[in-house]
Amino acid sequence: MALTPPIEMSDSYPPVLEEVARLAGLPEVCAAFDWFRSQEPQFAEWQMDAARIAAPPFGEAARGAWLAERFRELGLSEVQIDEAGNVFGVQPGYGSRSVALSAHIDTVFPATTPLNIQHRGSRLYGPGVSDNGAGIAALLAVAGAIRAVGISHALPFIFVGNVGEEGEGDLRGMRHVFATPRWRDSIAYSVIVDGAGSDTVVAEALGSRRFEVIVRGPGGHSWSDFGAPNPIIVLSRTLEVFRQTPLPASPKTTFNVGVIRGGTSVNSIPESASMRVDLRSTSMVEIDRLERALRIAVEQAIEAENRTASEHAKRKPQEVQCEVVAIGNRPAGELAADTRILKVIRAVDAHLGNVAQVQRASTDANIPLSLGREAIAIGGGGSGGGAHTLQEWFDTGGRDLGLRRILLTMLALSGVGE
Ligand SMILES: [Zn+2]
Repeated sequence: MALTPPIEMSDSYPPVLEEVARLAGLPEVCAAFDWFRSQEPQFAEWQMDAARIAAPPFGEAARGAWLAERFRELGLSEVQIDEAGNVFGVQPGYGSRSVALSAHIDTVFPATTPLNIQHRGSRLYGPGVSDNGAGIAALLAVAGAIRAVGISHALPFIFVGNVGEEGEGDLRGMRHVFATPRWRDSIAYSVIVDGAGSDTVVAEALGSRRFEVIVRGPGGHSWSDFGAPNPIIVLSRTLEVFRQTPLPASPKTTFNVGVIRGGTSVNSIPESASMRVDLRSTSMVEIDRLERALRIAVEQAIEAENRTASEHAKRKPQEVQCEVVAIGNRPAGELAADTRILKVIRAVDAHLGNVAQVQRASTDANIPLSLGREAIAIGGGGSGGGAHTLQEWFDTGGRDLGLRRILLTMLALSGVGE
């Protein structure tokens, strides 16, 4: 994760700071802050209950149904699950625009992973307990606080437990939310809660595009068919050319060849070989350029290998073929420094005395940011570690700071009457 320089304060910063201080001083907001402290046992319970329900990519339905039940218990309206599996609940307000608070409900763990979730001292342990148990707990805590203390805000809040954030999910849940007119046309601001912590703001969406390059040929015996085109050699020719593609230092742009497979034995010319390539940048233009370079390198390698093979061929000409399959696509995007959502989160952090760095990462925020909407991704408070491993943990200490941060941000974006 790359860090970016601090974002310049603009002239309208002091009024936002004053507004946040006013909100934080309202009796009902103070009551919500107290509620966050007194209800921690409930938050930990919700978090562990969620983490005990398997939610592998494309298998989030049971956890989604559980979340919809909690949304109903908390009194949210319009509770529904869409055809992608996203769970919605609305806290009504006024006006046609709204503020969304979302957390992904999927995990990286396959359905067969034992979900041994434990609570010892201030810590919760187990797969998915922090990423994104912390986000799910934060959603429920904020919805619960607003109802418990009765805060009346202007713009409606839309609570979303979305599917498909991790890995092969490829942001399908958030993509679907922003392809649905009911939500796309109303959500003006998106606050995305992903994992633990209060010390970051993701305001730049790291884009990525991933490909599987598959090369197939006639195969053959290493001795008697020598000269037949070789898919592994095609891949090595491709990489030799592709790795020389010039990359800009800014916008930061990278590539990786992460998996390479092929062949059956040392004395066989392989019938197929494949590789997986990951291209990343904060700029879609650079990702497009890298993709073109990859495709050209593949074509040239195929041509070169087929030419060499036909020179060797004593009998019929045999050729290799290639397929470039897209296996992932996350759009890039970034927030302008003077957007309201950034001013608000920075004012909230200043008010709370919280130090947070602006970061760039690949999160659910990629989708609204790529559409030019205002979005940030932040943590659900507390602290955590071991994400994407069986040793994952979450420490509830300091969770209320993260929750106050989220609530104040939501209220400042929505507006609360004088
Ligand atoms: Zn996550």
